[in-house]
Amino acid sequence: MTTGTNGAGPAHRWRPGDHVLWRYRAHHPTGVGVPVVGDPAAGPPAAGGRAAGAFHICRPVTVVEDTPERLVVWLAPGTECVKPELLDGTPIHSEPLVTRYTKPRAAVRTSWSGAGVLKLACPDEPWSVWLFWDRHWRFKNWYVNLEEPRRRWAGGVDSEDHFLDIVVYPDRRWEWRDEDEFAQAQQAGLLDAEQAARVHAAGRAAVRLISRWGRPFCEEWTGWRPEPEWSIPELPADWDRQGGARRTPQPRPAS
Ligand code: MG
Repeated sequence: MTTGTNGAGPAHRWRPGDHVLWRYRAHHPTGVGVPVVGDPAAGPPAAGGRAAGAFHICRPVTVVEDTPERLVVWLAPGTECVKPELLDGTPIHSEPLVTRYTKPRAAVRTSWSGAGVLKLACPDEPWSVWLFWDRHWRFKNWYVNLEEPRRRWAGGVDSEDHFLDIVVYPDRRWEWRDEDEFAQAQQAGLLDAEQAARVHAAGRAAVRLISRWGRPFCEEWTGWRPEPEWSIPELPADWDRQGGARRTPQPRPAS
């Protein structure tokens, strides 16, 4: 595995098989902390919790393709990741919507359950496109995750989820997903009216792309498969480090 310590300049490209981190920052306009639990390496949270916008999702992924036009990565089944849950241990989606964004949360380590996910992202585009299969590699659907254009650093990419999503089926039907969460996030003050308008505009642009069946929908990604020799990327102890920080290169497994 390499991610290089030579900076995150635009010329730095990852090679297929490299391990990088795909992360999302939390929305915490009030500065409510996201302490890490279950991670002895992280130590106790700072007084008052972490600063607003701490990372709350971290997915170690394998690079499939990295060009100036697009980054493609694979999230393998069983990968140790970080996800948010409520401090009392309630999974986010089990919490009633009205309190889902107001109760205190923690970022917890968890194993990625279910089949793997292929993620494609073009620089500056305010979404990434994910492909889902079942455990028998039967393609299920694409998922357009509306998000902040990813900020690239030496060890991966960072973004912020925008709540609203679009599911796209093989027969080209599509539908909005999580409109209720998008509305509730605005209620809770996690998005203001201007941000919400930008997210809606991004969603409409994605729908135009879907309607004309542009990339990546028209491509052959549904038949893609991971290289059998790829190992599952590890979640580093300092998974939440700031992107500018240098990262210790890990030995690349012999293949
Ligand atoms: Mg989303």
